Amino acid sequence: MTSFHDFGLDAAITRALAEESYATPTPIQAQTIPIVLSRRDVVGIAQTGTGKTAAFALPILHYLAANPRGRERKSCRVLVLSPTRELSGQILESFRAYGRHLRIATALAIGGVSMGNQVRALLNGVDVLVATPGRLIDLVKSNALRLGDVECLVLDEADRMLDMGFIHDIRKIVAKLPAKRQTLLFSATMPRAIAELAAQMLRDPAHVAVTPAASTVERVEQRVIRVDRPEKPATLVDVLRSETIDRALVFTRTKHGADKVVRGLQKAGIAAEAIHGNKSQPQRERVLAAFRKGEIRILIATDIAARGIDVDGISHVVNFDLPEVPETYVHRIGRTARAGAAGIAISLCAGEELALLRDIEKLIRMPIPITGDRGHARREEVRASVRRADRPASQPKSQNRQSQNRQSQNGKSQNRQWRRDAAPASGEMASVAFMRGGFMAKRNPAPRGPNWRSHAKGS
Ligand code: AMP
Repeated sequence: MTSFHDFGLDAAITRALAEESYATPTPIQAQTIPIVLSRRDVVGIAQTGTGKTAAFALPILHYLAANPRGRERKSCRVLVLSPTRELSGQILESFRAYGRHLRIATALAIGGVSMGNQVRALLNGVDVLVATPGRLIDLVKSNALRLGDVECLVLDEADRMLDMGFIHDIRKIVAKLPAKRQTLLFSATMPRAIAELAAQMLRDPAHVAVTPAASTVERVEQRVIRVDRPEKPATLVDVLRSETIDRALVFTRTKHGADKVVRGLQKAGIAAEAIHGNKSQPQRERVLAAFRKGEIRILIATDIAARGIDVDGISHVVNFDLPEVPETYVHRIGRTARAGAAGIAISLCAGEELALLRDIEKLIRMPIPITGDRGHARREEVRASVRRADRPASQPKSQNRQSQNRQSQNGKSQNRQWRRDAAPASGEMASVAFMRGGFMAKRNPAPRGPNWRSHAKGS
């Protein structure tokens, strides 16, 4: 399957895909879309980053387009259950993007926000409802939603829903659905409980599997450079100068941040351009075309703007800011290492971003080696000189291993942020793997490749 046209999807959908710059179906899409179009149930083993959302969203949208029906009040035709608010939001966004030329009504039902808007959104019925299980049950209990008209159920990231204790809720929800429906279940792993759930809830499902994002994640050489926030621009310049870069995509959290990075790089004599929502469409297209052709080697992007970037040959992804949502990290680093190529992902992590780093490591089930610490030595120098001036003799020893080789630390707030790093010399494994179900993905080796040059200049 080399093109989306081969699936026979509704023209309004292929048009949206062209606008998203999706040229080729990913393996999970190539396998799954024809089966879902044939209305068969599917069990898919696939992780985030493999394109699994489109693998179910596209054929579902096609079904809705081909089988229009008046909406029933307080009902939905398609129900997608996902474990987290963030993932639910992303799934909804995907349905909206791929279905933008169709007349479909969508809604999101997630916890943590008031129910009022969700109740109103459901009043006249929707085609697609994306929900977390807890809030869905609340809506059903309060008679804001009936589940008797569901034609298609998607259980996304079923293993995470199991981990998060939603299995009971899912059983309750499924019991209220019509028996005659299509059910699609996606999971990154297939523990016995999920296999049993699938056996009970799906009818003669087709099984599809891809060696998933995990393999993308494993293929990408990942590193973290710890750095104080004010040091990030200079560190980025160092990284871009010292690496052998074909094309680099640098991610910032905000549009403003992207422009600031461009200005900083330009000052240092490094040509770069930004692409984000504030740029006009012609501007974005011009920049993307130049990036594709190799006229621009360094592109600064926000996550939203990067969604449609489909460029091969990106050798480096740099996370100038760590993403708030760990799945976004997988999406970002998946921009490199495409089509089986190797790639390098470097994340600049400030002290206040350590919790985000932990979440990412938990998601990808492997620690990311910390290979440099910009700013730490400078902080130490300053502190040491202050201490020498203030109280040269009676210095308490710090608990911090790193500091034992240097001057000890005095435990002020900024030091506290760095406590977790009480470890690594350059290149060492620095962090702990947070594992689910005792499973541990293959560890990323500490980078030792010929291209590697330590960035631990300040340490
Ligand atoms: P997912 O695994 O569904 O979270 O998708 C991962 C990322 O890949 C998302 O940013 C999608 O927008 C993008 N994506 C999905 N399918 C394709 C495709 N066929 N071509 C290019 N990008 C895609």
